[in-house]
Amino acid sequence: MPSNKSVSDAPIVQFTNCRILRDHQLQRITVTGHAYLLHMVQMAPELDMCDCPSREDLWVREGKILNPEKLFFDEKGSADVQLDCKDSIIAPGFIDVQINGGFGVDFSLATDDFKSGIDLVSQKILSHGVTSFCPTLVTSPPSVYHQVLPQISVRNGGAHGAGILGAHLEGPFISKEKKGAHPEHCLRTFEAGAFQDLLATYGSLDCVQIVTLAPEMRRSSEVIRELTKRGICVSLGHSVANLSQAEEAVQHGATFITHLFNAMLPFHHRDPGIVGLLTSDKIPSGRRVFYGMISDGIHTNPAALRIAHRAHPKGLVLVTDAIAGMGLAPGRHTLGQQVVEIDGLNTYIAGTKTLSGSVATMDTCVRHFQEATGCSVETALEAASLHPAQLLGIEHKKGTLNYDSDADFLMLNDSLYVRATYIAGEEVWRQDVLGM
Ligand SMILES: [Zn+2]
Repeated sequence: MPSNKSVSDAPIVQFTNCRILRDHQLQRITVTGHAYLLHMVQMAPELDMCDCPSREDLWVREGKILNPEKLFFDEKGSADVQLDCKDSIIAPGFIDVQINGGFGVDFSLATDDFKSGIDLVSQKILSHGVTSFCPTLVTSPPSVYHQVLPQISVRNGGAHGAGILGAHLEGPFISKEKKGAHPEHCLRTFEAGAFQDLLATYGSLDCVQIVTLAPEMRRSSEVIRELTKRGICVSLGHSVANLSQAEEAVQHGATFITHLFNAMLPFHHRDPGIVGLLTSDKIPSGRRVFYGMISDGIHTNPAALRIAHRAHPKGLVLVTDAIAGMGLAPGRHTLGQQVVEIDGLNTYIAGTKTLSGSVATMDTCVRHFQEATGCSVETALEAASLHPAQLLGIEHKKGTLNYDSDADFLMLNDSLYVRATYIAGEEVWRQDVLGM
């Protein structure tokens, strides 16, 4: 059929023979799909049915997902290139909102060459299906924030690596009792002029996307309000807050819980603490609280993972909390000011049994989550894509395969192993052995 691309001359790529995750479901060529094609031909009898775009295919132009109906009827356009996905699942790229480093790189270490480190990590995590992330800094002295944060900038992903959505600052305004792997001598409290002190500590909030703090600290409400006002997501964690303190923080604007169950009070039926937010009836209407889960089989018992998932499935956000040792052989690595020992999937502060981040990859977490909860493939994939995008308020462009979204997506097999990673419609990683 003649191509009249009135909107753009950019090439149009049609990914065929795939199952797209859209509207919470894997779309298949179905009887309904076939009926839809017939319907389209009836609407435009001059056209050949073979030319009709299938809704079950993925169409991409200029890095965005295209609505094939608009292309077909309004522009009379068709695909320039067709790519056979060999029955792969196509899902939105994963978004990791808590990752401390990997491949020997520790984001919390002050260095003037931060760029080469973050470039390496963003490149390597493409093979895990991560197409954008929030580099995370654990509690550090102000000098580290001052040196590192100006070297982080929000940027799009591409062949060079996953996109950077902004930094996640975990601490130093957290509880001494629940410090976990964070160095005690760097912890801070909110004193008079709390928000100014936070600004002075971090130096700048320009590239900051998430701040994890302990809401039981005095003056936390005003800090939460100030951060929220600036579009920064406030997450509750490393905290001994009771439920009413946690609810108050949410009422002031907090929307996230940092690695649920870890580094907070254990669930108690008379005061379930931060965990109680999952079923609280004091969440302002129209708001959703999200919670991070490190689904590596170490940080959370599968039964606890199931409890959280069943109580509040739409809030579950998979995070890796990966540290420098992720992707490397077991041994000693750093996490900011601390030395960490890695033994298999266990990561401890050297000489202790204090867990300190993980060495799990995002694709492993997705598979473990699905196995542990018995949830659907769709649910497992959305916990690593749609939900983190909703948390950050970017679901209009990331975390879904809706029309006009960024074409950041993955091809996966039925066991949820990543076969290929695409950013803005370009292939940025592919598993060689499958010869796809
Ligand atoms: Zn933590």
